[in-house]
Amino acid sequence: MLAFNTLPGIGKKSALRMALHLMKKDADYARRLATSIINAKEGIHTCQLCYNYSDDSICAICSDEKRDQQTICVVEGTRDIMAIEETSQYKGMYHVLGGVISPIDGVGPNHLHIEPLLARVKNQKTQEIILAINPTIEGETTIYYLTKQLHVFNIRISVIARGVSFGSELEYADEMTLGRSILARTPYQLKPGN
Ligand code: ZN
Repeated sequence: MLAFNTLPGIGKKSALRMALHLMKKDADYARRLATSIINAKEGIHTCQLCYNYSDDSICAICSDEKRDQQTICVVEGTRDIMAIEETSQYKGMYHVLGGVISPIDGVGPNHLHIEPLLARVKNQKTQEIILAINPTIEGETTIYYLTKQLHVFNIRISVIARGVSFGSELEYADEMTLGRSILARTPYQLKPGN
């Protein structure tokens, strides 16, 4: 019961219901369930291209030839991809940074998947990078850093329209708002003097 309780979204009542369900089943059922959880955990990899969680070395999004390979949406984490996918408004690729630049927390550019992103842009015919990063101080620093790095490739760089929450809160933004903000993305301008 305690173990069920540790899962997200499972309160005491649901945990109890699961435990009661298990008691009704035979030991074999419990064993199969446990094995499938272990297999799921051990089978999760990160995609070699975009760093999204994946069952295979290349994730389902990266290997989907119907998607627009020339547009890459850069996000902090996998949960952002799930939120954007929910909107059904975006049909390009993704790239998971694994966080944002935060000197206070000891997170520098080298701790994030920035080099692989630059390699992708260089090697694939990327035309647009969409930065869907929470505009906190750390997020802005990351956007600025990325823009400086991406500048040399002569590609379109845009940020998703402001006014919605991004990053850790992205998943809570309602689908309509998030969908609109992707469609209404704006070109990112480096401020004069930078
Ligand atoms: Zn991928």
